[in-house]
Amino acid sequence: MLADTIAAVATPPGEGGIGIVRMSGNRAIAVADKIFQPRRGLKLSDSPSHTLRLGYIIDPDTGETVDEVLASIMRAPHSYTAEDVVEINCHGGSLATARVLQLVLRHGARLAEPGEFTRRAFLNGRLDLAQAEAVLDVIRAKSSRGLAAAVLQLQGKLSHKIGKISEWINGALAAIEASLDFPEEVGEVGTEELKGLEEAREEIKGLLVTWEEGRLVNEGLKIAIVGRPNVGKSSLLNALLNQERAIVSHIPGTTRDTIEETLLLGGYTCRLIDTAGLRETADALESIGVARTRQAINEADLILMVVDLSTGILPEDRLIFEEIAGRDKNVIIVGNKIDMVKEKIKDRFSFFEGYPQVNVSAKEGIGLDELATKVREIVLGGRVGTQNDDVLIIRARHRDALEKCLEHLEAAITAWKGGVPTDLVAVDLWAARDYLGEITGTTAREDLIDRIFSDFCIGK
Ligand code: GDP
Ligand code: ZN
Repeated sequence: MLADTIAAVATPPGEGGIGIVRMSGNRAIAVADKIFQPRRGLKLSDSPSHTLRLGYIIDPDTGETVDEVLASIMRAPHSYTAEDVVEINCHGGSLATARVLQLVLRHGARLAEPGEFTRRAFLNGRLDLAQAEAVLDVIRAKSSRGLAAAVLQLQGKLSHKIGKISEWINGALAAIEASLDFPEEVGEVGTEELKGLEEAREEIKGLLVTWEEGRLVNEGLKIAIVGRPNVGKSSLLNALLNQERAIVSHIPGTTRDTIEETLLLGGYTCRLIDTAGLRETADALESIGVARTRQAINEADLILMVVDLSTGILPEDRLIFEEIAGRDKNVIIVGNKIDMVKEKIKDRFSFFEGYPQVNVSAKEGIGLDELATKVREIVLGGRVGTQNDDVLIIRARHRDALEKCLEHLEAAITAWKGGVPTDLVAVDLWAARDYLGEITGTTAREDLIDRIFSDFCIGK
């Protein structure tokens, strides 16, 4: 157990139904005893673990009652941090919570750093690094699928797979080491171990293919809406937002001319970027905002190229399309203003041959479902979406470590099959094992761990 006792307000600032001051460490209960007076019955230090007591926070120096609270006690090792934990549930104002925090700091606790509670859970072996990261991913989940994936990771499903892969590698290493130490007794290191390594390799590959979806689930799908002025980009964005009730957030673009909105489309978070508000200038290229369009296209996972069915294709449309064509990007041509097209028109512009086209009316709300379906199809890329109980790789850090691990593992397998001395094979296997350890934290360096926990908020 770490020497000092940490404390922080664990609930967000501002007015709320409840505000929680959380303490962890070997003095947590003693500190609480000094300021918490139960309304009746046992003081906190005499209370059994995992109980809740109603009482008052009283400033021992002045005798003043600060708040009426519920105090909960969770003794080591059966707590979030595996240390003694006391949580004081105050009435929800930020003043009462702040004063209770002040009191515990004055009576022996110190202010926690961001993520320090979770970090202690990690250091005390309650969670491994991948699980600790999942805590943050649960908090920040932007879609139901993202939440499900993070919860699985928190439960240790990813760590379990990593453990299985490590075992195969360790098995091979143990055999190699034994054969080096006692060459006569062990004889050839054999096919059994090699088969284990090949299974490990397949398992890693299986995890890596989930990254594409995991990234989308975690970061959201970036969709750029491009097109010349007045084709209806902003109208389309608004129509999609109105249709989709579950708006997650509203992020004004960093430049005044770009607007980003987040919405859920078929369980996926989509960040729609409207390259709007382009100014009239004499320069044709500038007037259609080619530079901005280009940037949006570069960043996007999917491009909605909006054209106006009522005017047909104009030279500016062609200029914008030139920015898209020939790139390895997902594109949907959106023919807008279908409500204005009285006579029977051709379904598609032959100009965009080979690209999927959906015709809509942003104004009348026609064709939006079809557009959403098309987006979903393209997001999943023809794959069947994974089930909620499949492990997904949702962090780039894990993907990177797995890729490095795979490189070394493949080198080891090739070397082994090629008859390279096994002590050399072992070098690659050690490296592969270390990369796996970065995911769960057994071989993670201090600065990496610092970086991961500094992402957390104070009190978590
Ligand atoms: P942007 O410059 O591409 O963002 O285009 P806007 O969304 O600002 O729309 C330009 C004009 O087209 C506005 O007057 C809209 O009301 C109109 N408009 C947009 N979508 C439709 C549509 O589906 N049908 C009709 N009839 N008008 C539309
Ligand atoms: Zn606009």
